[in-house]
Amino acid sequence: MKNEISVQLFEKAKSFFPGGVNSPVRAFRSVGGTPIFIDKGKGSHVWDADGNEYIDYCASWGPLILGHANPTVLEAVEKTMKNGTSFGAPTRLENELAELILSNNPYIEKIRFVSSGTEAVMSAIRLARGFTGRNKILKFEGCYHGHSDSLLVKAGSGLVTFGETSSAGVPESFVKETIVVSLNNKEAVIKAFEQFKDEIACVIIEPIPANNGLLLQAKEYLQFLREICTVNKTLLLFDEVISGFRIGFAGAAGYYDVKPDLITYGKIIGGGFPVGAYGARKEIMASISPEGNVYQAGTLSGNPVAMSAGIAQLTECLKPNFYKDLESKTQVLIQGLKRNTKHNFTVFSVGSIFWLAFTDKKEIRCAEDIDSDSMKHFKTLYHALLENGVYSGPSGYEVGFMSEAHTHEDIEKTIRAFEIAFEKL
Ligand SMILES: *Cc1c(COP(=O)(O)O)cnc(C)c1O
Repeated sequence: MKNEISVQLFEKAKSFFPGGVNSPVRAFRSVGGTPIFIDKGKGSHVWDADGNEYIDYCASWGPLILGHANPTVLEAVEKTMKNGTSFGAPTRLENELAELILSNNPYIEKIRFVSSGTEAVMSAIRLARGFTGRNKILKFEGCYHGHSDSLLVKAGSGLVTFGETSSAGVPESFVKETIVVSLNNKEAVIKAFEQFKDEIACVIIEPIPANNGLLLQAKEYLQFLREICTVNKTLLLFDEVISGFRIGFAGAAGYYDVKPDLITYGKIIGGGFPVGAYGARKEIMASISPEGNVYQAGTLSGNPVAMSAGIAQLTECLKPNFYKDLESKTQVLIQGLKRNTKHNFTVFSVGSIFWLAFTDKKEIRCAEDIDSDSMKHFKTLYHALLENGVYSGPSGYEVGFMSEAHTHEDIEKTIRAFEIAFEKL
């Protein structure tokens, strides 16, 4: 595989950016080698700077549920752009995207648009604290919620712990407000509520944890969280930045039919542009400025170009059988991969999200159950897949995404690429 141009570009990039990138996982550190620089994408395919073509399952980390350069999205964006790109004043496009979402989602009544998933979660946490008048939050090890200070916290040792910061630059005093427990563990949550009665503003979870492998939770566990939050007057926050509009239009809340108090969105909502959002019932959202006293603002919030991309993409998602077709294509891929019986692996999936783990466990519900040693196989697999025309997120902890643009031919090619790659293990 030729990669001279990517190598050159990366060398240059290293003189500009820390580690040569603008977001750490892109540097290929966990798979080794040089990141490939992408020149263009169309449908399910991307082309790199050296002219190599790949079938793409990264999809910009999830947003591109229609594939790259979708004509409907592009047309909407072009039309909007010609009338100016930003006003910092309300536009009708914000109303349109909000109406599209709220009229098809029974779990929230009002919404606020921001510019990233991180910002959505950071703002929703502030809202939870402002609304409840409490300071502490409870999160789960293995869930990612963006890079705001109070969430860059990993579990210490023990059932219920204040975490340790997972990044330099986060003050110890912030970490004291974040309790970290294991996923799929009722006892730890019960104990946390005993220990910090009336102090926990919200419990935040990815209802479909998909940032550290795919750690599917039982519906019953989410229902348990719902109940314990209600009893303790704590808000339940579903971080649906990945699962929103991915597992169905109403995300994981709709999929499991569990009603959280707050939901955050990102990724798909912006059609490939920087959009995030948080929503809740009216009384909770009334705490947000200028209606209430929880401050939150943004120069580019509700940006018209991004809104029109979101409207175009979400309108496609609402078409009949959209999610059913995505899921059945994903199943075709998974069944094809399973025909290989020479290696010990399991493919976990929900809807159009899938994750291959080198394990014979049939269930992995918490981060501690992932065998980190097995990730060494992923490196080999990853580079062999690249050489055979399949691109995905460069880490064994990342999930893959099927898009509307993937064809059955793509899937057959992918299965063959995996077969060749498995031979290298
Ligand atoms: C991607 C992601 C975020 C962060 O979103 P950014 O747009 O990268 O800031 C937060 N929460 C979840 C669940 C995510 O998947």
